[in-house]
Amino acid sequence: DTLVNQIAAGEVVERPASVVKELVENALDAGALRVDIDLEEGGVRLVRVRDDGGGIAADDLPLAVSRHATSKIASLDDLEAVATLGFRGEALPSIASVSRFSIASRRPDDAHGAVLAVDGGRVAAVAPRPHPPGTTVEVRDLFYNVPARRKFLRAERTELGHIEEWLRSLALSRPDVELRVSHNGKPSRRYKGGGALFSDERLNETLGGEFAKHALRVEHEGAGLRLHGWIAQPAYSRASADQQYLYANGRAVRDRSVAHAVRQAYADVLYHGRQPAYVLFLELEPARVDVNVHPAKHEVRFRDARLVHDFVYRTLHDALAETRA
Ligand code: ADP
Ligand code: MG
Repeated sequence: DTLVNQIAAGEVVERPASVVKELVENALDAGALRVDIDLEEGGVRLVRVRDDGGGIAADDLPLAVSRHATSKIASLDDLEAVATLGFRGEALPSIASVSRFSIASRRPDDAHGAVLAVDGGRVAAVAPRPHPPGTTVEVRDLFYNVPARRKFLRAERTELGHIEEWLRSLALSRPDVELRVSHNGKPSRRYKGGGALFSDERLNETLGGEFAKHALRVEHEGAGLRLHGWIAQPAYSRASADQQYLYANGRAVRDRSVAHAVRQAYADVLYHGRQPAYVLFLELEPARVDVNVHPAKHEVRFRDARLVHDFVYRTLHDALAETRA
């Protein structure tokens, strides 16, 4: 089974940033409002994610690291309308098969916590371990037993950069959650929690005051679709192809057609040949968006792509045109 998990890891785990993503998403699925992320050497030596979520019963720890044992999907109907971030039940077993892994947890009502270690896929016995309510997952020495994969890891700075970029994208969509990051023992980032969705404060924390100052707020609803967020106006001078954030029902996604709609609206009203910076949240009925396209879940498929494209184009076109009038 270790081999199967290692093969799956090839899909799910590319680099430390993928580990951070899977662990933090699990924390959020467990209802965490505060997540601490400790990293060493760009996450290659250590990724430790601690949350204050609902925790896992000691007896269930072995399940958490076995394949396809998700607690989040009960039926095929659920699969059609997944609301949680994870749902395949393969992240933890995959990660645990290519690292020195441990998961410690306690549910708020349990008297004692417990820990389960997995070394390169070999699962140890559950042992008692004091732990505050919530969960801590430690991933050490990523790919230590898969040299062919380890070879593709980049310099510490580069790996850290990927982690920070993913966290920024997450922070934008979850201003209610406090995120603290440390790297090599020093605090490196902190996003304050408790914020409301669509709040200027989180925008400031993530993309900076310049973006916030020049951002046009957009909010529009129609045809069962809702778009809200910000698009930068031309006075925002930063080259901004790297500041394009799109979310579908709260998940960070990439979609060529929506990206095109934004660029086209921007070009038609304002300038050609410039990349607009934006943060846009698209809300629609879960059944109208397919997130099962790829395990990494960045790509989505909209059931009515044309409608979504035109809605985004029209909304931004009108909002931008109004600022010119
Ligand atoms: P998935 O998220 O797709 O269900 P994972 O492999 O990521 O699969 O996690 C397996 C299971 O372990 C989850 O379904 C959940 O029950 C449990 N789990 C993992 N991380 C946490 C956490 N931080 N808090 C509570 N439960 C967790
Ligand atoms: Mg998961």
